[in-house]
Amino acid sequence: MGPVCDRSPERAWVDHAISLIDAEARRSADTHLLRYPLPSAWGDAHGVALYLKDESTHITGSLKHRLARSLFLYGLCNGWIGPETTLIEASSGSTAVSEAYFAALIGLPFIAVVPESTSASKIALIEAQGGRCHFVENSAEVYAEAERLADETGGHYLDQFTNAERATDWRGNNNIAESIYSQMGAEPHPVPAWIVVGAGTGGTSATIGRYIRYRRHHTRLCVVDPENSAFFPSYEQRRDVVTGESSRIEGIGRPRVEPSFLPEVVDRMVLVPDAASVAAARHVSAVLGRRVGPSTGTNIWGAFGLLAEMVAEGQRGSVVTLLADSGDRYADTYFCDEWVTSMGLDLSGPAAQLADFERSCAHW
Ligand SMILES: *Cc1c(COP(=O)(O)O)cnc(C)c1O
Repeated sequence: MGPVCDRSPERAWVDHAISLIDAEARRSADTHLLRYPLPSAWGDAHGVALYLKDESTHITGSLKHRLARSLFLYGLCNGWIGPETTLIEASSGSTAVSEAYFAALIGLPFIAVVPESTSASKIALIEAQGGRCHFVENSAEVYAEAERLADETGGHYLDQFTNAERATDWRGNNNIAESIYSQMGAEPHPVPAWIVVGAGTGGTSATIGRYIRYRRHHTRLCVVDPENSAFFPSYEQRRDVVTGESSRIEGIGRPRVEPSFLPEVVDRMVLVPDAASVAAARHVSAVLGRRVGPSTGTNIWGAFGLLAEMVAEGQRGSVVTLLADSGDRYADTYFCDEWVTSMGLDLSGPAAQLADFERSCAHW
């Protein structure tokens, strides 16, 4: 027998880590699909309905819980994550919070590379899940620094913007698309005419778009995008675009087109003004009696536009969109009038349009 190098003992640890993630999924319930109360004066009369998939009810508070689970399983099954691996991500937002949770679950250290300007409350959320923050001066440096740290520590850079589209099992396995279609099963229009989502990594729109095609549903996928984002202009012009500017709507819109954004599976994009996103987030919060995050406002603005279009064309059917995260995290920002004014946003126009929509969708 020639030389042998056997690494099979590491397999036992990977098996155990995967069983912990599997057990976590079993303990967790699926998220609710809420029926949005459209004004009965016209919603029922025209045979249209709106649903919100409530991703705020995941244990770590946002749709990034799904992404983090997928990225961990992908890294483990690819052999990239082992018993000594330090996990690293370039994120100061919800992704880092959810990844810190899964790292703690399987007993590995997690480092979020974040800009120095990151607010104390966001750092506290990451640290509360057992993660650690590593600071860089400029936000543009976070990606290179995350790669460097991974090299230096022999760790694994989870890299949400590259891996989001490929880590999720888009054909099924209880992904968000499969869950939506199963929960819509007993509704008057079980196959939605439209599904509306925003894009941060682009992973959610990639999963839903692929699933729609795979299942040959007639649903169309609409991606809503905020100001300053590269996604909308690149989709419209069919070329790569870099805006270099950050989005003002947390969780969506990017200064560059991320590798996980797949424009080919998107049927329509709509550019939503930031003031409209914030006004719609406040509007939905008032209707539901609890606060939703600003990207949910962007989704709702897009969904209302599609409902108005369906009614104008005499088309019956349903529209599904996401409640991506709770608004409780944003009391000092999107729900604070001084902050909104300081950002140069005037909500009065879109707020009036939303109030008109409640009276008649013909006003859209
Ligand atoms: C990440 C995120 C999105 C966008 O989802 P992706 O799958 O990354 O495109 C939307 N809203 C919120 C609040 C998010 O955190």
